[in-house]
Amino acid sequence: MTLNNEIRKRVLQANLDLLDLGLVCLTWGNASAVDRQRGVMWIKPSGIEYNSMSADQIVEVDLNTGEHLGNLKPSSDTATHLSLYKHFPDIGGIVHTHSSMATSWAQACLEIPCMGTTHADHFNGSVPLTRRLHPEEIKDRYEHHTGQLIIERFKGIDPLHFPGVLVAEHGPFTWGKTIQDAVTHAVILEEIAKMAYQTQLLGKHEPIQKSLLEKHFQRKHGPQAYYGQNNNT
Ligand SMILES: [Zn+2]
Repeated sequence: MTLNNEIRKRVLQANLDLLDLGLVCLTWGNASAVDRQRGVMWIKPSGIEYNSMSADQIVEVDLNTGEHLGNLKPSSDTATHLSLYKHFPDIGGIVHTHSSMATSWAQACLEIPCMGTTHADHFNGSVPLTRRLHPEEIKDRYEHHTGQLIIERFKGIDPLHFPGVLVAEHGPFTWGKTIQDAVTHAVILEEIAKMAYQTQLLGKHEPIQKSLLEKHFQRKHGPQAYYGQNNNT
C-alpha cells in the first residue's frame, strides 16, 4: 500500500508539473508511470481538473488486460500509454501534452530537424514524426492505433535515443526511464521545437553538421559518455 501511495503521489506531481511548466492548458495532457514487476501502470483520471486532483484519484491500470481499479475512469489516452509500455521495455514513464510549439510541428506534419547542440544533447537526430492515421484507424480503437502508429515509426530506432515523437496532426508524446525524465523530455521537446522554428525564421534551414550532432549526443548517451559529475573517465 505504501509503495502504491508513493507512486500515486509521483504521478500526481508529474501531472501538476506539466501545468506549472506551461506545457498543458485546461486538461490537455496526461502523465503515467509503470511498475513492470507488478504489471501495472498509474495514470491521471479522465477529465478531472488539475486543481482538484488528489493522489488517491490517480488510476491504477493492469498492463496486460487494460482494466482499471476503482470508480474513476483513467485518461482517455490510456490505450496509447499501454501500447508504448508493452513495446518499449526500457521506459518507466510517459507524458502527453499539446504544448504549443511541438504541437505546431506535429500539425504541420513536419519532423523537428536538429539545428544545434541543445537538440543534439537529447535527441540523436530529427524528432520523429508518425504518418497520419487512416480513417478506419480513427473510427475504431483510436487511442490503441495511435500507440501502434508510434511503435511503427520506431521500428529499428532506440526509444531512449529519441525520447519523444510527434504524432501527425495531433501532438507530442515523450518518455524516459522515469516519469520525471518523461516530464523533462516534454520540456526539452517544447524548447527545441521553438528554437528550430525561430532558427528557420532567421533563414537557416540546414541542420547541424553531423560530426557536432554525434559529438554532443555521444558525450551524454554513448558508451564513452563523460558529461556530468558521476563519471570519472
Ligand atoms: Zn492529445
